[in-house]
Formats: sequence, structure tokens, C-alpha cells
Amino acid sequence: MLFQPPLARKYAELDGQTLREGIRRFKDQLGKRLVILGHHYQQDDIIAFADITGDSLKLSQLAAEQADAEFIVFCGVHFMAESADILRRGEQQVILPDLSAGCSMADMATIEQAEVAWKILHRAAGMPITPVTYVNSSAAVKAFVGRNEGACCTSSNARQVVEWALRGARPGDAEDVGNKVLFLPDQHLGRNTAFAMGWPLSSMVVYDPAEPDGGLEPEQVRRARFILWKGHCSVHQLFTPEHVERMRARPEPYQIIVHPECAWEVCQKADDVGSTEYIIRTIREAPEESWWAVGTEIHLVQRLARLYPTRHVRSLTDIQCLCTTMYRIDPRHLYWVLEELVEGRVVNRIRVDDETRRWARVALDRMLSLRPSQPVSAK
Ligand code: SF4
Repeated sequence: MLFQPPLARKYAELDGQTLREGIRRFKDQLGKRLVILGHHYQQDDIIAFADITGDSLKLSQLAAEQADAEFIVFCGVHFMAESADILRRGEQQVILPDLSAGCSMADMATIEQAEVAWKILHRAAGMPITPVTYVNSSAAVKAFVGRNEGACCTSSNARQVVEWALRGARPGDAEDVGNKVLFLPDQHLGRNTAFAMGWPLSSMVVYDPAEPDGGLEPEQVRRARFILWKGHCSVHQLFTPEHVERMRARPEPYQIIVHPECAWEVCQKADDVGSTEYIIRTIREAPEESWWAVGTEIHLVQRLARLYPTRHVRSLTDIQCLCTTMYRIDPRHLYWVLEELVEGRVVNRIRVDDETRRWARVALDRMLSLRPSQPVSAK
């Protein structure tokens, strides 16, 4: 994990208006040499300056298409900036305004743990395993997957990638047909995806990197079709089945839509399950005077509520489900990195070494070569 030293005192003394005016001025001065990316979960004070908003992969892909952009300032978290560096074109430089903006989920699978797990699982499996990593993982884990004939996935295309990874195996097949899948680092996306494809929960085991042998007997690994890494998103994990029940008990006719990083029990009780882009599209296209309780990060939910007031959007819970690391990217840090750029200095550059970049790119390209996909629907 990286650490962001405190900014100089002068930045703490800048008021909101000075920060806004400064950021605008620096943007004008840098012109097309700069592109600012804003992830959907960012606070509005940052989204206001984003040239492109979206989910992590879309942002990285679009940034690489900006031929004139020398500097990509990624207002997101560390693994997203790494993805932008993996996909960047030529000499583009990727900057993360606060180095402490990490991701608890990505941190739950280190490359060292993945390599240990690979040996343990191969000893026990008795058949080939395809590793699949959610893009919410470090560049090193993506490279590990690329080197071992696996692929990345997003929450939009997880189903297509897992179908590919199984090499033709279908629910009900004999144990030795096709491949097993090691899905990391998010057990919930893995479980929700496999279940939506018709695989029973009994075909899945959870590998815990903190336990000897992942906490699994060889026989459990041999019998399983899916080995789910014991990782989760600390934001989406906060939603519970009780939240769904309480929302259903309300007088308003709420439809409940949740992200597949939520626990399986929550997804089963929801009306719909899908990626961030799917949630946005569903609410945008929903009829007027419809009611939506949304199980995802609070900044996105609040933005949807403001953008579409006739859809009556609210969070699935009153608990503030906030991505605290994403929230570290604030106008002060954005101001600082832009001021440095204007003065000819690049700070907080995120660089992935060439070898890691090459193999991580293989894992991303395998995913991108699969046909466009539908959202996960775990119902
Ligand atoms: S919302 Fe969850 S998965 Fe996304 S960056 Fe935050 S901790 Fe990571």
C-alpha cells in the first residue's frame, strides 16, 4: 500500500472558491495535454472537473484514446490508475492525486498469496484451473492471471469471462469436464455470477489466504468447480438482507437494485442486480414516478437521486455506504497535482513495470476479445 504524505500547509489554507478557480485555471493552462478521469463513486466536487466519468475500465480505455493527452489524472483508486497505465498509449503519464487512495478489495489478494494459492490448488485440483480476476485487483495479480492463461473481468462481463474460463463445462457436467475457475479477489461477484449461470452453491468453495492450504481439504478442492477467493468490497459488504426486508416493508413501492459485489443473500432478495453502468442505465430509463432503492456507493446513489428526481432514488440503507479511500481524492489534492503539472513537475505518477504491464495487458486483452456482455443478473 502506498502512503500520501500530508500536503504543504498552504493548501490547507485555500478556501473552496480559490480551489475551484485554481483547478479551472490549471485545466485551461494545460489544455488538451491533460485529461481528468472521474470514477462514478467520486464526490461531486471532483466530478465537476472530470473530462470523462465512468467505471474504472471504461475510463482507462477512453483515456488511452485521447491522443493529445500527455497527463491522465485519475480521480479514483490505485488499481484504477494502474489499469490506466497498463492501457495508456506511448508516453502518457498517469497520476493519482492521493497515493493513499487504495482499495480494500484489491488489497485482499496480493501477488505472493496468489502464487502460493496456485501451487496449493494445482496439487489438489486434479484438472486444469483457469484464473479469473476482477479488474478491481492489483496490476501484479492481473499479470499473474495473464501468465497463467486466465483473463480479467468486470462486473458487466463476468458471466462471459467465466463461461469462457470453464472451457465448455456446464452445470451438471461430470467433475472432470472442462476447467475449474479460480475467481479473485471478490468472492461475492464470483458466487453471484456462477449462481446466475445455474451452478449450485455446492459447486463453490472459498479459499482463505490467511489459512493454511486456504482452509480447504484437497478433496474439497477436487470436488469444487469454483474456487472463490476470500475477498470482498468493504462498501458493498455493508448491505444486508435485513436492509432489503425493511425497504420492502415501507409503503412506497421501491424496486431494489444492487451491485453484484453485494453478498449473495442480498442479491437473491433484490429485484435486479447489475454493474454500476447497468444501475445508471436502468434508473435513467425507468418510468417517471418509479421508486428505487439502490445498493451501491453513496455518492453515485445521491447523484442519481439529483439527476432523476422523478425516479425517487435512495440508498438501500441509511448507513453511509461510502468508499472512504475514493473519498481521499479531494479538490485540495487535485489542485496540488495540477499546479505541479503547470509548473513542469509530475507528482504521484503511477507506473507499472514493463513485465507486469505486458502480462496484465494479456489478461485484459483476453477479456476484451470476448463479445460484449450483459450485466450479471443473479436472480
Ligand atoms: S467501492 Fe469497494 S471495490 Fe470499489 S474502490 Fe471502494 S473498496 Fe474498492
